Amino acid sequence: MSNQYKIETKCIQSGWQPKKGEPRVLPIYQSTTFKYDTTDEMGKLFDLEEEGYFYTRLQNPTNDAVAEKIADLEGGVAAVLTSSGQAANFYAVFNICEAGDHIVCAAAVYGGTFNLFGVTMKKLGIDCTFVDPDAPEEEIAKAFRPNTKVLFAETIANPALVVLDIEKFARIAHSHQVPLIVDNTFATPVNCRPFEWGADIVTHSTTKYMDGHAMQVGGAIVDSGNFDWEAYGEKYHGLTVPDESYHGVVYTKKFGKKAYITKATVQLMRDLGSIPAPMNCFLLNVGLETLPLRVERHCYNAQKVAEFLNAHEKVAHVNYAGLPGDKYHELAQKYMPNGTCGVISFELKGGRQEAIKFMDGLKMAAIVTHVADARTSVLHPASHTHRQMNDQQLAEAGVSPGMIRLSVGIENVDDIIADLSQALELV
Ligand code: PLP
Repeated sequence: MSNQYKIETKCIQSGWQPKKGEPRVLPIYQSTTFKYDTTDEMGKLFDLEEEGYFYTRLQNPTNDAVAEKIADLEGGVAAVLTSSGQAANFYAVFNICEAGDHIVCAAAVYGGTFNLFGVTMKKLGIDCTFVDPDAPEEEIAKAFRPNTKVLFAETIANPALVVLDIEKFARIAHSHQVPLIVDNTFATPVNCRPFEWGADIVTHSTTKYMDGHAMQVGGAIVDSGNFDWEAYGEKYHGLTVPDESYHGVVYTKKFGKKAYITKATVQLMRDLGSIPAPMNCFLLNVGLETLPLRVERHCYNAQKVAEFLNAHEKVAHVNYAGLPGDKYHELAQKYMPNGTCGVISFELKGGRQEAIKFMDGLKMAAIVTHVADARTSVLHPASHTHRQMNDQQLAEAGVSPGMIRLSVGIENVDDIIADLSQALELV
């Protein structure tokens, strides 16, 4: 696909390129296997000597077309889709880390990521230090060790809505010779493309805006192709020394800029699975086609709702980078001048109890463990997504006990505000 196209065009045109007589719409290749005529032909695929489909756990034409579209949207060289955003973040890190290694991660991240890095990966021998993303560079740099392999953060943190200073993080990562991985779920490539600001790898929970209709759980990892693994060959030996499980292939030598994604696909997918179903990739592709339209409306509605809440006497404070007084307004103007996302977090005067009363009084906005889809929804992070955290961890993640996370949908904004207004009357 032409890189000259604008993002709206790429959302429609990238990925599936039908040849003469083939379906215009991306077909669902609902098949685990692919047929060959000779034993030798298939043997070459197993040795990575030839390209071709043979088993859907490794590659599938429907999935690959959607991966290609997402790579194109982010401006990357290659992407792999996973069965969830959690799997994407796990694989993105595990692809270049092993027992004995260490990662540095912004403390303001999604609760599931906090748990994955802080608890589950620790059990695999990979240690994580969480840092305040707003801290000065010298402070964050103190978290790095000789065995640090990755710096990780979210473009817009869920649910604290901290906007990442991507250039600052890229500088810190690169001065420690490690790649910066950015979870770009909330901003989407429509509003921000972290590679343009120095990030090396981008991940997504495609479950959110990319799908946009809450129809499938999925994830994506995209590589910019910019990080020079060979320059630090010993550190990233999984990519730069022969992989005995593939008859000695050296990923960087054989696959160049696609080394990282190829390894994630042929090694991690082969050994751990977590591929998305072709049907889910089809649904994701339908969602991607309207992503720019929806993101624009989400941002428009969220701005109006944030202004309404900010002016309401029962609201203690609102976090939304679109508000001029917001702590992250300037960073958002720099990295996301067209808007941030549809998610707002706010706190009522009175805190936790009032939050619960308000949420239970909503008629249209639904209480769901989800965010970033067409329907307005609401969640109480301290009781839901961040339930496992103690008060100190909650504070570090930017989550107060009374915080309400409101995901503003694409309904008419007057109806959304009317619903919020009547629920506030009950508090
Ligand atoms: N990253 C972010 C920023 C998220 O908000 C989420 C889920 O809410 C995830 C990752 C995990 O994605 P999934 O629920 O698709 O596994």
